[in-house]
Order: sequence, then C-alpha cells, then structure tokens
Amino acid sequence: MSPTLLERMSNRAMLAVAEPQLGAEEKAALADVIDAGWITMGERVFAFERAFAQAHDAADAVAVSSCTGGLHLALQALGLGPGDEVLVPALTFAATANCVLYVGATPVLVDIESLETPLMSIEDARFRCTPRTRAVILVHYAGYLADRAAWQDFATARGLLLIEDAAHAAGLPEAGTYGAAAVFSFYGNKNMTTAEGGMVLAADEELRERMRQMRGHGLTSGTFQRHSAAQPGYDVTMLGFNYRMDELRAAIGLVQLGKLPAWNERRRTLTEVYRALLARQLPEVTVPFAQGGISSHHIMPVLLPRGVDRPQVIERLRAMGVQTSMHYPPLHRLALYRERFPDLALPIVEDFAARELTLPLHPGLDEDDLRFVTEALTEAVRGAARGAS
Ligand SMILES: *Cc1c(COP(=O)(O)O)cnc(C)c1O
Repeated sequence: MSPTLLERMSNRAMLAVAEPQLGAEEKAALADVIDAGWITMGERVFAFERAFAQAHDAADAVAVSSCTGGLHLALQALGLGPGDEVLVPALTFAATANCVLYVGATPVLVDIESLETPLMSIEDARFRCTPRTRAVILVHYAGYLADRAAWQDFATARGLLLIEDAAHAAGLPEAGTYGAAAVFSFYGNKNMTTAEGGMVLAADEELRERMRQMRGHGLTSGTFQRHSAAQPGYDVTMLGFNYRMDELRAAIGLVQLGKLPAWNERRRTLTEVYRALLARQLPEVTVPFAQGGISSHHIMPVLLPRGVDRPQVIERLRAMGVQTSMHYPPLHRLALYRERFPDLALPIVEDFAARELTLPLHPGLDEDDLRFVTEALTEAVRGAARGAS
C-alpha cells in the first residue's frame, strides 16, 4: 500500500456513499417553525409545494410524507387495483414494486436495456405486456433519465399510464413531464432531503386534488383549513391515508431546494472526475452511462470486472475507509418477490447486479477524496483478483 493511502487512512473519517448536507440555515428554518407555533401541514408545506413545482416547470405539486407514500397515493388516485398489471424495472428499490402490491395490482418485473444503459428495457417491456397491463413505472436509475419519447410512444400505443419513480431525479425539470404522475423522494440519502418526505407532480389538476384529499384521510378539509374557517365540519368522501408532510420538513425542504441546483452541478463535476480517474487508472472497471445524458447524478454505480470477488473488494475498501453500497439487488432475488416469481430469469439485470458497486458521491466530497477512492478501489480490485487466483 502506498504511503499516501496510509496517510489518508490515518487522518480521514470514513468516506460515506451518501451524506445529507445540513447546516445553520436548516437549523434556523426549524427554529422559525417552532417559534411560529404551527407544526403540522400549513403555509410552509404549501410554499414548498409551489417552490418545488416552479423548480420543475410544473403547475403545482403535492407534498407527501415519503416517495413510497406518494407512489401509493398516485396509483390509488389513478384507480389501479386488482386485476391490473404494472410494468416495473427489476433494477430498483423495493418500494417501486411494493406500491403496486399496496393497491392489489400485480407488478411485472422487466429487465434492463444493457450494462451500459441499466434502465428498463422497452424491448423486454413489450414482451411482458398482456391485455391486463395498465401502467408502467419508470425509474430514472442513478439520476439518468429514461427515454421520454420512446416510453410515451410505448404507453400511447397501448393505452397505458406512465408513472415516474423520480426518487433519484430531484432538480431535473424533465422529470415529471413523462406521463400521469412523478414522485420524488427527500429521504436522507437523496439529492435533497427533509429526513423523510416526498413530492408528487401531476399535470392533471383533478388528479392533484384527489391526491390532496387522499393524503389527509380522504377528509373534505384539512386541520389547517378548519382552523382558519368559520365552520369546523368535514366529511370523508373517499378512502384516504395519512401521507401528509409537516411544517418542520417543509421548512428544511425550502432551504434544501434553494441549494439543489448547485449540489446537482457539483455531483456532475464529481462524476466527470470519477470517469476520468477510473478510465486512466482502472479501465477494467466499467462505468455505465458513458454517453452521459441528462442526469441528477444521484449515485456513482460501477461494474467490477467479471470474476472479481465483490465481498472481498467491499471489505478491502471498508478497511481503507471507503464505504460502498449496491444498487440494487434485483427485485426478483428478494424473498418477497422470489416467492411470487420463482422461475423468472432476467439475465441482463442479474449480470449487472452481480458486479455492481456504488462509490461515494455527494456534494461534501472533493477531488482528493475521489482520487483516494479510485486508488483504494484499484488496490482492492487488483488485491481481490490476486487473492482469488
Ligand atoms: C429512495 C427510493 C424510494 C423510496 O423513497 P422514500 O422517500 O424513502 O419512501 C423509492 N424508489 C427509489 C428508486 C428510491 O431510490
């Protein structure tokens, strides 16, 4: 091991895959809410909705307690239910498909296009369509946008609803323009955070109103409206949930949203630095999305050379102070879905997921950190290969 590596190890904290960027402004925003005395959904949530919509060139937005809740809300409000099939990429977080199960519909798992473009394959989606297919949930994996024109053609030709799981794509105005609804996540490891939280974009005002009512138990008016109205009554006219956001989260969200463009730009720069370093130093590692394209650069996935012992690479990196992660185990390999689809084979995503490793990427990193990660990865991959032979 080179002395520089040792040096870095001794005086650096673990480099995290993701890290929330929080500071004095978020603290002040939280203190303002507490001083104001109204902590549940109110003016700050509505201001956050308007600001998020504006940042994405949308008419309006519906704030929710999580992306998962927002996806459930969207599917329910769009009337999906038992007997319906929904196409979902196998390369995603479990929540994307779980939401389909929440409404009693059937998720149909679809392979990815290629190792180079690990987004849902249109060709495989076409193959998996049946007369019961009603919707497609696209995932902008790692922040790289799915092909809008191609998916709109696909959906229009079959009369399908297009829904975006845009958990990775906050800050991209193109996200939210594909179809019926798009849902964003503000979980702690996303490009902007409210700790827990999410936002739904939908072009149809009636759909937005339905989701607004559904996020608050299906009540005809919320606590905030009743608080400020002359008559305190309400009715329940539909099955609703509690997927509300609160003022504390909205206050943090407003601060974070203001910083998001600069953070996404920083992520782009860091991704380019990674690409250059890896191409020069470790060409046997493959970096997907080489052609770039519009992205929020949410994570930095790479593919280890075939045959390299990934657990050993992960352990070696951890020992050198570099945390890594995997995005994602394919859904049909998770017990819940394995039991539902025991015979499903999706060869491209299986190959991708067996080799994928996610490197640290967040705005708190600098170029020296990336040089260190690249050096550590080189050491780990070549060490693991030697260990295996
Ligand atoms: C994080 C994530 C979710 C879930 O978001 P929550 O806000 O935690 O509910 C859903 N889908 C994808 C692709 C994600 O990365």
